[in-house]
Amino acid sequence: MQMSFCIVGAGFSGAVIARSLAENGHKVVVIDERTHPGGNCHTERDPKTGVMIHRYGPHIFHTDNENVYSYVCRFGEMMPFRHRVMATVQGRVYSMPINLLTINQFFGTTLGPSEARELLARKRRADIAQPANFEEQALSMVGEEMYRAFFRGYTRKQWGIEPTELPASILKRLPLRFNYDDSYFAHKYQAIPRNGYTGIIEKILDAPNIEVRLGCTFEQLSESWDHVVYTGPIDRFFSFDIGRLGYRTLDFETFYVEGDAQGTAIMNYCDEQVPYTRITEHRHFSPWDQSGTDGSVLYREYSRACGADDIPYYPIRLVNEQALLRQYVERARATTGVTFAGRLGTYRYIDMDVTIAEAMKAAEMIQTAIAQRTAIPAFAIDPLS
Ligand code: FAD
Ligand code: UDP
Repeated sequence: MQMSFCIVGAGFSGAVIARSLAENGHKVVVIDERTHPGGNCHTERDPKTGVMIHRYGPHIFHTDNENVYSYVCRFGEMMPFRHRVMATVQGRVYSMPINLLTINQFFGTTLGPSEARELLARKRRADIAQPANFEEQALSMVGEEMYRAFFRGYTRKQWGIEPTELPASILKRLPLRFNYDDSYFAHKYQAIPRNGYTGIIEKILDAPNIEVRLGCTFEQLSESWDHVVYTGPIDRFFSFDIGRLGYRTLDFETFYVEGDAQGTAIMNYCDEQVPYTRITEHRHFSPWDQSGTDGSVLYREYSRACGADDIPYYPIRLVNEQALLRQYVERARATTGVTFAGRLGTYRYIDMDVTIAEAMKAAEMIQTAIAQRTAIPAFAIDPLS
């Protein structure tokens, strides 16, 4: 049975679902209010320098999921990229995440792995067996001095709240290493597309049965479809009528220099007195593509509370938001004809590989429901899990 679908959002979620439905013979219209596809992963050439920029913040593809990696490779060439991050603290540059080099730099030592373990065993708060929040997690991992230097100021700037109010899970994303491995990620595949993420997403959307409409909001459409897949914010779908889910937004201040400004893609600024969290120098994300001018384009990145007219970036998901989310999820489950997907539709921080895997799962769920002639569920992934 051929059905008509409207997919709201031309990011990875919307594109992967659209492609799968189209390949199964359904008619799909993909809409996005932005004038380009790609969602927050969008890349484009900077008009002044020709450098490929990550317009909505730096994106590095990293995954252990073979299926997802081979999927993206179908649509573009992935260039191996080992992501390394530096951090400036009190006028000195360190390696991040914390590894043996960071420990030796910070304490002015020349320790080997086991000696460094012993040093941190003396520094860390051994009395915190079950860290209840971000601060406790940091103190039990590296102790007071390193917590204050690397995490406290950065985290207050990034999240706008006390680290004691944040879940420990946010810090658990970062490893602590007692060797000189300074790779930010530990995944098998780490890469950046040669022609940018938007090049890949355009190819995913380039299929018979898919029509893409850009610069168009869902709210302004009056047509009807058999089913809608909504990858925009779940609270927006319901016109925010019981309140807004909290997000952090980002401001990017662009500046230019001649040549190489910082010698690396990302420099974090952990001191609280520095108003931005990090500086991204985009040319280092495409070392294979250094043609063009000698100019370099950089972003200073600032984080703040997301207002009604801002782009939602990081879902906050604290206790209040969880309660509101529960209400929206109940309403979504009671609404027929729409499936919610993606980071905004499920109000979760998800990396690109997880986004793609979940989008495949959502498409499969929709296909199965159609085949079994049952109602298409509101979610493939439970946003409350
Ligand atoms: P989005 O990319 O947000 O796409 C949703 C689209 O829907 C948007 O284009 C929006 O304009 C459109 N839309 C919403 N509502 C409507 C409406 N009502 N009408 C019309 N259009 C609408 N992941 C990694 O794997 N590696 C990284 O290094 C990485 N870095 C990140 C850095 C930052 C700063 C952030 C915030 C995220 C990062 N991510 C990273 C995560 C990555 O951005 C997400 O996994 C991915 O963008 C999710 O895709 P999506 O399609 O679900 O959502
Ligand atoms: N963080 C920090 N200092 C750093 C890098 C990270 O305090 O130099 C904290 C910050 O709270 C961040 C969290 O560690 O949100 C997880 O780091 P990740 O790189 O995953 O950051 P995000 O994806 O949130 O930008």
